[in-house]
Order: sequence, then structure tokens, then C-alpha cells
Amino acid sequence: MVAAPRPAIVEMRGIEKTYGAERAGESVAVHALDGIDLTIHEGEYVAVLGPSGSGKSTLMNLLGCLDVADEGRYRLAGTDVAGLSDDALARIRNRFVGFVFQQWNLLARTTALANVTLPLAYRGDRDREAKARAALEAVGLGARIRHRPNQLSGGEQQRVAIARALVTEPALVLADEPTGNLDTATGEEILGLFDRLHAAGRTLVVVTHDASVAERANRRVRLRDGRIESDDGLPLPGRADAAG
Ligand code: ADP
Ligand code: MG
Repeated sequence: MVAAPRPAIVEMRGIEKTYGAERAGESVAVHALDGIDLTIHEGEYVAVLGPSGSGKSTLMNLLGCLDVADEGRYRLAGTDVAGLSDDALARIRNRFVGFVFQQWNLLARTTALANVTLPLAYRGDRDREAKARAALEAVGLGARIRHRPNQLSGGEQQRVAIARALVTEPALVLADEPTGNLDTATGEEILGLFDRLHAAGRTLVVVTHDASVAERANRRVRLRDGRIESDDGLPLPGRADAAG
């Protein structure tokens, strides 16, 4: 018996994204992504690497349905994303994606608990407060739920942002340089949290400049000039190339 293949969370084929257009008769178009094929299965922990300007953030925005591709196909958790309206994209995002940014984007005047409750409010979820409280406890902030962001350290604020990303139980967790604004020890804390999420079966995609961060992932996808330059993902059971 061969183990059943894990479902694909991300299926991208021939994805292209161009910014800019004609200006004063001169083309200033930038091909930020130039033919991306990428499949990510449930439970993978993928590090996205590459020089500045190689397309990492553009890829993350497309993965998270913050933006749409100009060409190609993208299925997220089995749902075809091409051609959806902004409203439909927002629903998909809220249902399937949790974001962790380098800037934490927390609401300054409201408590950790209220910040984490917000994504649940958008979907009219029941038991919002209990779920938000549980998400904060899971990141070790059970004793800080009534604190506002300016009463928390940088690492604690990033953990609030992670709790907010996780509270909806997203199929895909995306993080763009999540330790970029943290000192080494605090960054280590956040990476330990990602290790635990990975061990618990979450699907994670993390952009990083830092080789030691990338080492902790189980797969490294390297971008250059909007293309995948290398990908050390191992063949998975059920994948066409698994037979070796
Ligand atoms: P990375 O995150 O790897 O640094 P980005 O995805 O941010 O790269 O950018 C890829 C390319 O697209 C770069 O050349 C960048 O200047 C360009 N770019 C990114 N966002 C925009 C935008 N909103 N408008 C125009 N050009 C953009
Ligand atoms: Mg970037």
C-alpha cells in the first residue's frame, strides 16, 4: 500500500505578473513573475529565497489572493482563483489564508484580544472571544490578552500577529520576512513557533533573506528575475516524479 498523497494546497501553473505600462511612449513594464509553476502540499514548510527584486513579495501577494496574476492558473485549496471578483477574493482570503508580515499591522488602540478577534468578526463566527483567547494562549500570550500593542515587546507583537493569522485555522500560513524587525533571540522565539506549527501539520510559506531561517524549512524555493531558479522539495508519494 502506498500512502495516500496529501492534498495540494497551492497549484500554480504558468503564473505571470507584470507591473507598469507605457509611459510617454516608453515601456516601463517590470515582469515581476515570469512563468511560475509551483505545487505545495499540505504540511509542507517552504522557505522562499532570492535577491531583492526577484519577485518574492509579488509571489506571496498572489499566493494569498491579495492580488491576481495576469496569466496562468492558480488553485488554492482546490478553488480556482483566476477571474474572481474582489469580494470573492476577500472571502477566499479570509477562509484559507493567514498572513504574517514584517510590519505587524496591528491596530494600535485596541487590545491583543480584539486584534485577534477581528478576522473572526469578518466572517460572523461564533465563540469569537474564546477562539481568540485560545490562539493567544497557543503563542504564549495568555497573560497579555488585555495589553495594547504599545504595551508589548516587538516579539510579543509579532506573536499577536501570528495568533491573528492562525485564529481562522487557515489552510495556508504566509509570512514575509517575519523576523526581519526582531533581534536574534526574539527571532529565534518566532522560528520556534513556526517549527511547532509545522510539527502540528500546518502548511507554511516563509520569505526570508536568512539562510539559517531557510535551513529550518523542509523545502527551499529560490527565485531569480521572477522565475524559480531552484527548488529542493523532495518528491512526494503520488507525485508524478516520485517513482525516481
Ligand atoms: P522581492 O520581494 O523579491 O524584493 P518584489 O516582488 O517586491 O520583489 O518585486 C519584484 C519586481 O517588481 C521588482 O522589480 C519591483 O521593483 C517590482 N514591483 C513590485 N511591486 C511593484 C508595484 N506595485 N509597481 C511596480 N513595480 C513593482
Ligand atoms: Mg519583498
